[in-house]
Formats: sequence, C-alpha cells, structure tokens
Amino acid sequence: MDGAAENGSTAGASAASAEGGARVVLLGPPGAGKGTQAQVLCQHLGVPAISTGDMLREAVADGTELGKRVDGIMASGALVDDATMAEVVRERLAKPDASRGFLLDGYPRTLPQAETLRGILESASRSLDAVLLVEVPEDELVRRALLRGRGDDKESVIRGRLRVYREKTEPLIGYYRERGLLREIDGNRPIEEVTARMVGLFGVSP
Ligand code: AMP
Repeated sequence: MDGAAENGSTAGASAASAEGGARVVLLGPPGAGKGTQAQVLCQHLGVPAISTGDMLREAVADGTELGKRVDGIMASGALVDDATMAEVVRERLAKPDASRGFLLDGYPRTLPQAETLRGILESASRSLDAVLLVEVPEDELVRRALLRGRGDDKESVIRGRLRVYREKTEPLIGYYRERGLLREIDGNRPIEEVTARMVGLFGVSP
C-alpha cells in the first residue's frame, strides 16, 4: 500500500507529464548513471536530454573558443566557472526543442548555478517540475568509473571529482528539498530497475 508521503512525492511529477512536457534536473555524483538514465527517461517524457558535460566535450573536440577554455579544467576534474556555464545553459535552453521541457544532466552543480537556472526559467514564467537525486555509494562509483576507463578517469581524478561533488553540488540536495522538488532514487540497483522507478515517478509506464 502506498503511504501518504509517497503519493505526495509523485504528485508534482505526474502533473508535469500530464500536460505533456517536463522540466527536470538529474542530480547525483559523477558515475551514478545519470547519462544512461537520461537517454531512456527523455524518450518517455518527450523532452531533450541536455548534458552539459557532453556539450563541453563536444566544444573541446571541435576546438572552439569555449573548448580551449575548458579543456584543462575538465581534465583536472574541477568545475568550469559559473559564468561560463550560465552562458552555455542559457543558450541551450533557448533552443526550440527545449520549449516544452528538458532533462538536465550535469547542471546545476553549484548553488549559484541553481539560482541561475531558476532565473532563466522565471524569465520565461516557468519553473522546475522535479529534481531526481540518483544515489550510489562512493566505492561503487569509483569501481564503475575505473571500469568505464575514459581518458580522464584515473582514480585520483575520480576521487577529486567526488570531493568536488560533495563540496559544491551536494548542497543542492537541501536547496531542492526545501523547495519540495527532490525525488530520491536508489541508483545502486540494476539499470532497468532504476529506469522503471524514474519513469514511474512521472506516471507513465516504462
Ligand atoms: P560530466 O560529464 O557531467 O561529469 O562533466 C564533465 C566535466 O565537465 C566536469 O567534470 C566539469 O569539469 C565540466 N562540467 C560539466 N557540467 C558542469 C557544470 N554544470 N558546472 C561546471 N562544470 C561542469
């Protein structure tokens, strides 16, 4: 039987998908599987998955001004500055495909970024519908990252990224919880199960 709290926690998200669109943030440590989940969830919600990490990696690959500016920062595991990220996200959310909503993966990562996002949405008379927090224990995150073996995935860099997450990004959990937007998901489960739970939050069948 569903408790009152659980019913309450799905209400906002269900309403979001009922009107055919959703503005959703995926929050969680690096390596929690947000990108994988975003690819599936965005199909269900009919909104684009927007990964700021992918956008920056593309800029680096293309050798753009932005790419040159962020290359070293990304390789070190540090965060790109908030002003640069504000520009990247503002421009991306202004594109037509994001008008009905979006699934943001990797943004916001700091409290100022959360405020920037709120401002961008507010100026369009919009607001977030839900923030999905994907939780995975740290040792499992390190194991997954080493398996994935991307060029910048050395263990020291991974641990550094997790430290940055704890210091800069974790405060967003309280920020969004206070605003009644946070939905917690156990990310230490088989991929399909995590997907099913996320999709279930939006009241659409997987
Ligand atoms: P990700 O693929 O989301 O882990 O992002 C890879 C890297 O891109 C991060 O380690 C940061 O250096 C940079 N990055 C991506 N999104 C952000 C953001 N919202 N704020 C600052 N840096 C970011």
